[in-house]
Amino acid sequence: MKLMLSYIRRHIGKFLTALLFLSMETAADLLQPTYMSFIVDNGVKAKDTGKILEYGAIMLAIAAMGALGAVMRNIYATKTSQQIGKEMRLDIYKKIQTLSFENIDRLQPSSIITRITNDVTQIQMFINGTMRIMLKAPVTCLGALILIIWRTPGLIPMIVVILIISGFLIAGNMRLGYPRFHRMQKRLDRLNQVSREFLSAIRVVKAFRAEEEEEEKFRQAAEGLAAAGVSAMRVMAVFGPLINLTVNAGIVALLWISTIQPPAEIGRLMASINYMTQVLFALGMVSHILNSAVRALASSRRVEEVLQEEPAQINHHGELEIRGNIVFDNVSFTYAGSAAPALENISFQAHAGETIGIIGPTGSGKSTLVNLVPRFYDATSGRILIDGMDIRLIDMNILRKLIAVAPQKALLFTGTIADNLRWGDEEAAMEDIQRAAEIACAAEFIAETEYGYDTLLGQEGVNLSGGQKQRLSIARALLRKPKILILDDCTSALDATTEANVLQGLQREMTDMTVLLISQRISTVMKADRILCLEDGKVQGFGTHEELLAGCSAYQAIYNSQIGQGWKDRTYAGKAGAVYE
Ligand code: ADP
Ligand code: MG
Repeated sequence: MKLMLSYIRRHIGKFLTALLFLSMETAADLLQPTYMSFIVDNGVKAKDTGKILEYGAIMLAIAAMGALGAVMRNIYATKTSQQIGKEMRLDIYKKIQTLSFENIDRLQPSSIITRITNDVTQIQMFINGTMRIMLKAPVTCLGALILIIWRTPGLIPMIVVILIISGFLIAGNMRLGYPRFHRMQKRLDRLNQVSREFLSAIRVVKAFRAEEEEEEKFRQAAEGLAAAGVSAMRVMAVFGPLINLTVNAGIVALLWISTIQPPAEIGRLMASINYMTQVLFALGMVSHILNSAVRALASSRRVEEVLQEEPAQINHHGELEIRGNIVFDNVSFTYAGSAAPALENISFQAHAGETIGIIGPTGSGKSTLVNLVPRFYDATSGRILIDGMDIRLIDMNILRKLIAVAPQKALLFTGTIADNLRWGDEEAAMEDIQRAAEIACAAEFIAETEYGYDTLLGQEGVNLSGGQKQRLSIARALLRKPKILILDDCTSALDATTEANVLQGLQREMTDMTVLLISQRISTVMKADRILCLEDGKVQGFGTHEELLAGCSAYQAIYNSQIGQGWKDRTYAGKAGAVYE
């Protein structure tokens, strides 16, 4: 019920509009017999043509109002219920994407299909019914009863008896109906499951001549569904007519009473009978609606089960447990307003805890590529998965919390060094700040400043060198304890020794962090677990340093220009004298 209400709430305006038109229609229906009785009692009996025409005109106007109400409530009801059905299906679909195979196995794919199709349809029909007739039935029933009692109070005992009997019948109907409809949906699951299994294994079935066995399975499933359907419908078939019978008996009783003690006015008797017919209609409707409600409830519980399924990645603290596995699956990206794509068909995988080096000339798309991971931009085509989940389906806050970026151009603000670092984590303790600064090799120069962590930085950190800014930027990213760390060419201003120390510190201290390490320098990326070599937005090679050196011409070219002949004495290891720039 909560589920349905939550969807209705989103369309409350349209929902209430439908109910408003429905009330209009109901009021019109309720007014007609009364005016009819006025025509008979005040017009026909008094032979007053003027009165007859007057009441007739009023009835016509009321009928027109009722018709308008009926048309409008149908339009609104259909629109709203279809919309809700669509949203519910989409939500289930999205939810399923966040689930692991483990979750899906537990729910069973065939059952998920039934829930997306049939169960949502049941709910949709109920919501539609609510807006079209739900309110009308009880209101008509109540209104008609009040009008009968008001105009002929003598009928009260009879009406009470009718209501008590009908109440029992409706309650019985619901009690017996609910479990049967629930069973019907389950049998439908089973039928879907058998069909699905058969279709996916049809070649095997034919090859092994197992048709008969499969047919038997299908027959059983189909028969099971039919039996459950018959049983559920039987409940409806028994109770519906019983309610009709009760009310019809009431009408007979009313006519009978009127023969014994003739009513003062024929018109009033007519109105009473008319209202009894309306009560009959409404009670029948109520039982019909309750049946539909029972079906919808059974279905909504099944939909809720899917929506409430906890993704297996959620740990026992209720947090998303991400290991940091990243997959680029045929990702292309074109900047808005740009003709040429910045990235084309990028596919690679970074295992959790790995350091992936990304190398390529300026403009090759390195920054663009890593910016897609925290969704600073969304891929134009293809998809990016983190631990098997499409990042577009991960809550943005969760996603951004997982990832820390040290950008190409270090961004620092006016304030103390500690303030700047705390930007990574506002509540960070001083020890954490110091530790992050140590790993980033920033602790040393911070200690040399007069006020240490309380040193004020000028605008954009003007009183720091490029390398110092970069180290602060790395420390800030580390302070967030990310699962995925993106270093976008942010060691470019460091000397080789310091850079090596920073990278070694990362590898030593942050073993379970996936690192995307961008650089234009081969010496920076060559120690990474694997290296992605980019050129013009396309992958030229992906593998270890040795593999690329052996098989990737673009990588070889970069290597030869930087380290090959003439650069031999400047290899990466931070040997004395081996200094870049
Ligand atoms: P790299 O980081 O390897 O130097 P980039 O990812 O920054 O490369 O750029 C890749 C390509 O995308 C370049 O051709 C660049 O001109 C273009 N580009 C980068 N940023 C934008 C942007 N915001 N709008 C339009 N084009 C951009
Ligand atoms: Mg860049």
